[in-house]
Amino acid sequence: MTADAAHGTLLDRYSHALTGLFGPPQRALVSGSGVRVVDEDGREYVDLLAGIAVNSLGHAHPRLVAAVSEQAGRLMHVSNLFTSEPQVGLAEDLLRLSGAPAGSSVFFANSGSEANEAAFKLARRHGGEDPSGLRTRVIALEGAFHGRTMGALALTSKEAYRAPFEPLPGGVERIPGGDLDALQAALAPDAEGRTVAAVLLEPVQGEGGVHGWPAGYLAGVRAATREAGALMILDEVQSGIGRTGSWFAFQDPAVTGGDPVVPDAFTLAKGLGGGVPIGALVSVGSEVSALLRPGQHGTTFGGNPLAAAAARAVLATIEEEALLENVRRVGAALGDGLRAVDSVTEVRQYGLWLGVDLAADAVRPLPDAGPAPAVVRAALEGGWIVNATGPRTLRLAPPLILDEADARDFVAALPTILSAAGQPTE
Ligand code: PLP
Repeated sequence: MTADAAHGTLLDRYSHALTGLFGPPQRALVSGSGVRVVDEDGREYVDLLAGIAVNSLGHAHPRLVAAVSEQAGRLMHVSNLFTSEPQVGLAEDLLRLSGAPAGSSVFFANSGSEANEAAFKLARRHGGEDPSGLRTRVIALEGAFHGRTMGALALTSKEAYRAPFEPLPGGVERIPGGDLDALQAALAPDAEGRTVAAVLLEPVQGEGGVHGWPAGYLAGVRAATREAGALMILDEVQSGIGRTGSWFAFQDPAVTGGDPVVPDAFTLAKGLGGGVPIGALVSVGSEVSALLRPGQHGTTFGGNPLAAAAARAVLATIEEEALLENVRRVGAALGDGLRAVDSVTEVRQYGLWLGVDLAADAVRPLPDAGPAPAVVRAALEGGWIVNATGPRTLRLAPPLILDEADARDFVAALPTILSAAGQPTE
């Protein structure tokens, strides 16, 4: 390390000390409160991304801070050889809020990828129970993102993420989302008689640009998987815990297009801990719960008292501050406002989760990477944090506490951001 690196800004020091896997960080942040964060130069930003759908209560919410502090002072970690009140209570909370039937159960992990690894193993175990020995296939969808660890990566669609790491765990096939005929065809035995153990999908594809499915698709997946003897596993890592305005997206009529769709299992992470790392796999019903047997899976940290206490505080605050209602109301206002902005061609909005498509010429002169990355940079300069999920798509996933005034101010600022995006910043 050079002397300069040791005494430079956080961004300088980062470049000398951390991997460049994500490219240079946009800013180094030092504090936050509510929906606002402050960088190392003292500049303030309205956070419309919430650490990518993680800071559900915003920053430094007093209830979350108190719960974490109190638990840290009482009991921080116990390993999976023991349990604790926060861990048991959180599992009970999740089963209650999801309406899971008796016999359902929760496995705690530390991230979305890790929750999906557990889900993948659940699928393998379901396949393993089939006396034919041929239930070996797993179906995922094109455009899906399920994480970057090896099993989760095998389920993830993007070739550029997968290719450098082949061979990945086998047996995964990809079909187009939203197409029930393609699903039916995939669920039929293949030429060697192999059948499908599980279909794993996001109720709304987040990294894919906040894309939901045609009304009835998820119910169709439910019926077809049941008929074929395959598990339906939902990845609610980004969509769960209030993001859409329901506790879970599978309960949300705007997502399902009708009645709730009850999966065989679902995974959670991101917003669950409000910023404290925690993930979960919920197995629905006693049969699915029995698939992973003692000793077949585990983790040192999963659902430790500190993370579980944080997640319990998140859930209690969402309930007591009526945040689901806030998500629906402010999300609708934000979506409607953005739809009326020139250069916005489409807004897909599920609660406080929005994919905002920009016209190809929304930014002039048009940067090589498309308008969205330039708009993200210009928004940051203007004091707003959003991100891009593609060359023309912005994603917003703000804290669930966002109020209408901040939503309105962003809508009002967007035309200025769009015109600034065409000008070089530095
Ligand atoms: N699944 C979905 C739907 C996600 O959006 C993500 C992260 O963006 C993941 C899984 C991976 O979660 P993590 O980054 O916590 O491993």
